[in-house]
Amino acid sequence: MGRVICDKCGEVNDYGYVKCQKCGEKLNYKKNYIEDDFDDSENEENNFDEFYVSITLEEAEKLIEESNIGASCAIKGKNLIKFPDEKSCLIIILEKYFSRVNGYVVGTVIIDNSNNETRIQVITAGGGTGLFGFEYGSEDTFRNQIEKIFSEYIVD
Ligand SMILES: [Zn+2]
Repeated sequence: MGRVICDKCGEVNDYGYVKCQKCGEKLNYKKNYIEDDFDDSENEENNFDEFYVSITLEEAEKLIEESNIGASCAIKGKNLIKFPDEKSCLIIILEKYFSRVNGYVVGTVIIDNSNNETRIQVITAGGGTGLFGFEYGSEDTFRNQIEKIFSEYIVD
């Protein structure tokens, strides 16, 4: 993550703040942003999780449909891809409203049994707001909420 220097007082603020933490001046990211060296691929991976569960693909689907992640969460799309030998892959697109970003975060859940075990992959995106896409942790929160649905069935 980078830093941004305050125009008014010169304070170096961490990436993510809208106003200077010392004087309250609005920070100018376009002009005063300093990028730190960081691994971009690692950053992307933070939005992704993979785990196995002790239930079938159909049971996992049912859990999501009956889950209560809040009234503002809805299933926006679902697609089942069937393969030979009763193998399949189910893709579910969830969307939830987060007031902290005043917008919707998208959660993609991919459930497959291609290797005789039920594998679940969760990717969240879309919580970014403003020019620099601050998502204020909304993507992490949503991913954790989705994973919690399966918590008692997760296997090593
Ligand atoms: Zn300042």
